[in-house]
Amino acid sequence: MVKAIYPGTFDPITNGHLDILSRAALLFEDVHVVVAVNVRKTTLFSLAERLELIRKCTSHLANVHVSSFEGLTVDCLRRFGAKVVIRGLRAVSDFEYEFQMALMNKKLDSGCETVYLMPSEQYTYLNSSVIREIAALGRSVSEFVPAEVEAKLRKKTGTHPKRPAKPPKK
Ligand code: ADP
Repeated sequence: MVKAIYPGTFDPITNGHLDILSRAALLFEDVHVVVAVNVRKTTLFSLAERLELIRKCTSHLANVHVSSFEGLTVDCLRRFGAKVVIRGLRAVSDFEYEFQMALMNKKLDSGCETVYLMPSEQYTYLNSSVIREIAALGRSVSEFVPAEVEAKLRKKTGTHPKRPAKPPKK
C-alpha cells in the first residue's frame, strides 16, 4: 500500500476537495492533506482556521491526516514517507499548470508520482475563490461546502444568506 499527500491552499475546503479526498482515501494507505504555507499569498482563513476546518470535515475518514507544510512538494513527500501527490482535475484549464508541476516535481525527485482524480460532475465548476465571493455577496453556499465551513464563512464575511431573487412578474 502506498502513502499519498494532497497539497493545496484549501481557503476554505469545499465539497469538491472532499470528493477528491474520499476517493483518495479508498485508493491509498494514508492520505496527508497538506495545507501549503505560502507567506506571499493572502488568504481569507488563517492557517489554523483552515487546518481546523479540514480536520472537522474529514474526521470520518480514518486514514486521512491533516497538517501544514512550508517548502517544496517533493520535500513534503519525503517528510511523510509518501510516493504520490494527489491533485484534482476539474477541466482542461487545470491541465496546463498541473502538467508543468508534475513534470517539475518529477525532475526534482524521480520517485515522485502525481495522480489526478476527477471529482463527481457536480463539483467540476467549484473552487474556493468562487465560494468566498458568493458567501461575501450574501448568497447561501450550503450546496457547495460542509455546514461548518458555511458557518465560518458567514462569521468572516458578516453576511446572512439571502434567497435567490425572484424573477419579475410578467
Ligand atoms: P482551489 O480550490 O482554489 O482550486 P486548492 O489549492 O485549494 O485550490 O486546490 C487543491 C487541489 O484540489 C488542486 O489539485 C485542485 O485542482 C483540487 N480541487 C479544488 N477544487 C476542486 C474541485 N471542485 N474538484 C476537484 N478538484 C478540486
